Amino acid sequence: MLVYKFGGGVLNDSNGIEQMAEIVRARVSGRLSQDLFLVVSAFGKMTNAFEELWADWIIGRDFSSSYGRIKAFHMGLAKMLFHDKLQIEEILTPVFDKISILLKGQAPKDRNEAYDLLVCYGEILSSVLVSAYLSQSGLENSWLDAREMICTDSYFRESKVNWLETRTKVNEVVSREKQSLIEKKEYGGGRLWLTQGFIGSDLDGRSTTLGREGSDFSAAVFAYVLNASEVVLWKDVPGVMTGDPVDFPEVRKLDQISYLEAIELSYFGAKILHPNTIKPLQNKNIPLIVRHIYHPDAEGTMVIDNPVITDELPVLIIKPNQVLISIQPRDFSFVMEEVLSEVFTILASYHIRINLLQHGAVSLSFCIDYEEERLNNLVNALITDFKILYNTGLDLLTIRHYSQEVMNKLISGRKIYIQQQSRKTARFVLS
Ligand code: ASP
Ligand code: MG
Repeated sequence: MLVYKFGGGVLNDSNGIEQMAEIVRARVSGRLSQDLFLVVSAFGKMTNAFEELWADWIIGRDFSSSYGRIKAFHMGLAKMLFHDKLQIEEILTPVFDKISILLKGQAPKDRNEAYDLLVCYGEILSSVLVSAYLSQSGLENSWLDAREMICTDSYFRESKVNWLETRTKVNEVVSREKQSLIEKKEYGGGRLWLTQGFIGSDLDGRSTTLGREGSDFSAAVFAYVLNASEVVLWKDVPGVMTGDPVDFPEVRKLDQISYLEAIELSYFGAKILHPNTIKPLQNKNIPLIVRHIYHPDAEGTMVIDNPVITDELPVLIIKPNQVLISIQPRDFSFVMEEVLSEVFTILASYHIRINLLQHGAVSLSFCIDYEEERLNNLVNALITDFKILYNTGLDLLTIRHYSQEVMNKLISGRKIYIQQQSRKTARFVLS
């Protein structure tokens, strides 16, 4: 079993979808000897478009224009890919009917629950369209609903995967489908499966999502529970680079990196990999390869256990939009275990992740992603016991395998709030 994941960045126009079909065809050419499991996310910026629709829906505002944009985008794409109008109706109308029924009803009181119920349709739409296009191109495939397979808790919008349930359900669904293909004599030792990233459901069957950009993680979850031999993330870049070309012009591709290095990079904010993706693959030693969708034969980047590394290039990562919070106990106590445990309990209860931490005798400073609502909740929870100061609009710069020269170049002229250096990593909170 191989797992291929195609994200919205590459599936953003008809060319991307055609190219996906070419890649699948090249792999399948002749006869498929093993299963190929395809995971897709919503097209282009459609998740953002669904977020706008959701914002209209939950406050009862007129949603004709946000809904219209989503419909027009998918209809337009379908017209480029299918020539038969009736076929387009057949593919898309049932899904848009479901969305319309949902929107006519009352949104769930919990706005995050409403989000997952609605926004998951971005992935449903892209997957039905891609599935039909592959079939039309002679690539017979079975469409599977990830909401019947990925089981999560009910922390909507950032749901955690229930691994045991998920393993059972994925294998149940795949074996059920396989059995029915065998009965129809349509299974020939390998099959194309196609499902959605990012989405799942909780134990009560309510739709959930795994957090923005979560489809890479979904691919890893499927690979883990299906014991895949390899995962390929098809992107619009040649592989994992030594920095984001938008921030740093002179970047190079990393040919091979270890799971551990990949975890470090994604944790520090490298956008190419979702931080949760690597761990499950590492646990089963499943190689992860990042490849360019338009250069499918190029080498890409391999994430494996024992990479061959010729020279350790400095890797530069900027995490923008940070807030640095400094707190001091009001009772003048030292920052000891009890204080740390109180603060961490509060952070965990709001699902806030610390990106950098530093403490002295009487104060504790930490950096988190800026999000207005979460910051307000946090400040309210801390204000009785702590004096609080915070700065917003900061960057967190991480340099893996740093040299003095690279550091000087990147921090010159900037105001440094915190600086931390370990053997391999230098980190700066800067404005
Ligand atoms: N469609 C979702 C998003 O845009 C998930 C993903 O792309 O990975 O966040
Ligand atoms: Mg996306």
